Amino acid sequence: MDVCLWWIGDAAADHDLLGTLRRQTEQVFHVTARAWLGRDRPTDSFDGRRQQHSSTRILKWLIDSRPEHATKVVGITDVDLFIPILTFVYGEAQLGGTAAVVSTARLLPNSGFRQDFDLFTARLMKECVHELGHTFGLLHCPLPTCVMARSVNLLHVDTKNPALCHDCQSRYAEIRKQGHEHHE
Ligand SMILES: [Zn+2]
Ligand SMILES: [Zn+2]
Repeated sequence: MDVCLWWIGDAAADHDLLGTLRRQTEQVFHVTARAWLGRDRPTDSFDGRRQQHSSTRILKWLIDSRPEHATKVVGITDVDLFIPILTFVYGEAQLGGTAAVVSTARLLPNSGFRQDFDLFTARLMKECVHELGHTFGLLHCPLPTCVMARSVNLLHVDTKNPALCHDCQSRYAEIRKQGHEHHE
């Protein structure tokens, strides 16, 4: 299992930030994760009318463009994402699939203080783990502090822990077990 965390934003990649995401991914999902700095970027995701990027189109692009060794890919971007029925999304994932995308655009605090950067990092970590959880087949969790809880605003995001609750951990273990049996 190799999870690829791919910076696909407009700004330069933040290596410390990617390292933090990588470690958290490995810790929560017991997988090998790598930061990937491929320079390709999605070309057809921008919607001129909405002035936002289609997260669904980015997912399709990630599946086609991901490095060969990656069984799962999480695109991390700074552009604002949308799906047609919502004003914006923090991210999107294929349930039980290969690709996820998360955006930093709506997670930034108002000022640039160090504590705010830590808050921003924590938010991005949670959204990254959340969307990746969907690719492993995890659904939304009713527990507000679980990373798999649905978040529609930053209060929801800030309420969550960056980890799976006990029930989601059990579900995840079950999913992984079934996956292994499948391959035998
Ligand atoms: Zn979700
Ligand atoms: Zn949970």
